Amino acid sequence: MAETFEAVILGAGAAGMMCAAHAAARGARVLVVDHARAPGEKIRISGGGRCNFTNLNTTPDRFLSANPHFAKSALGRYRPEDFLALVERHGIAWREKTLGQLFCDGSAKQIVAMMVAEMAAAGAELRLGVSVEALERGADGWWLRLSDGAALAARRLVVATGGKSIPKMGATGFGYDVARRFGLKLTETRPALVPLTFTGPALEAFAGLAGVAAQATVACGRTAFDEALLFTHRGLSGPAILQISSYWREGEPITVGLLPNALPALKARRAAGGGVGVAAALAERLPRRLAAFLAEGFDAPLAATSDARLAELAARLGAWPLRPTGSEGWRTAEVTLGGVDTAGLDAATLEARAVPGLHFIGEVVDVTGWLGGYNFQWAWASGWAAGAAIAAR
Ligand code: FAD
Repeated sequence: MAETFEAVILGAGAAGMMCAAHAAARGARVLVVDHARAPGEKIRISGGGRCNFTNLNTTPDRFLSANPHFAKSALGRYRPEDFLALVERHGIAWREKTLGQLFCDGSAKQIVAMMVAEMAAAGAELRLGVSVEALERGADGWWLRLSDGAALAARRLVVATGGKSIPKMGATGFGYDVARRFGLKLTETRPALVPLTFTGPALEAFAGLAGVAAQATVACGRTAFDEALLFTHRGLSGPAILQISSYWREGEPITVGLLPNALPALKARRAAGGGVGVAAALAERLPRRLAAFLAEGFDAPLAATSDARLAELAARLGAWPLRPTGSEGWRTAEVTLGGVDTAGLDAATLEARAVPGLHFIGEVVDVTGWLGGYNFQWAWASGWAAGAAIAAR
């Protein structure tokens, strides 16, 4: 005999756990199934172990999707303040870092424990270390067989299996396979929020700069982020680069602005005199190794540097053009850009329009947030919206 549920939710990540807790709290019998041994593994490692669990500045324009309007409904109904209230009810200390980013004061494990407690309190069941061996759709809903032999029947199936990033943590293409099998379209998937890599002379130059960090405006096309930049042995990383990686495509250049509009300041420094060299003058405002690198070819003292040469230097400081050769890929990407095409989903319920009873939530959907807590907010909000839909019928 199959065990019967209102919904079976595949994936005990942020989205799946929120969906289960909310649906169960509203009276639905739900089961969450995950092939990992522990729930919320990505929550546990997120935000450097402190989980940047939401962003107070969440607005739909901080998300990438083929349909930029799609996320509005879910994001509008479950807001950062709602998740923060949950965090506070559980007595978890938090702090706001820059740009509205909220982190745990203690550990990301507190968020995992909170979601597990919310599910348990609401009566949602959680089964770990099991995978789906068979999945069929019938007239009344779904039928599943798990790797432990259990047979399940459910009116609804929720796919919350996440994206492709960090395969060694259990990421699979399962959600995309389910979508394809039931006729949903996918948009192109690619690693996002990921360090960019270089080869050839650019990489040789970076080798000497590895470990240097600086504030920078990194731009690709018309998109720019003003955040920290980090030189690595393979290329560039840091928040500014992770952000721009979601917009960059192979073959495109990026520009790195380290000191915007530097010409007046350089001229003023030259007028102040003192026989200072160009590298030393730049080191007054930039890390020493970076200043020396940028001053290469400017060997004369600042006082002997012409206006034309200063303008050349200012241009380099304002928009240093670079051409990445690739990214570090799925191994280190924080998220997957693209996924289940939102054109096939109802924005309010995350249900497939052509397959009633099939929902997709969280990262598996073609909605990708900026760095800074936006991706968890999408996971909570889309999970909440699907949970409400499950309980409503
Ligand atoms: P996931 O959290 O990936 O959960 C999917 C679940 O499905 C997993 O438990 C997985 O084991 C399970 N699963 C997969 N395939 C199957 C299968 N075939 N059968 C059964 N179960 C399956 N975002 C932020 O907003 N703030 C941060 O601070 C932040 N830091 C991050 C740091 C790192 C290193 C990484 C990699 C990501 C970070 N992110 C952060 C992104 C964030 O973790 C994800 O956007 C979010 O976890 C997506 O939630 P999800 O529930 O959709 O998917």
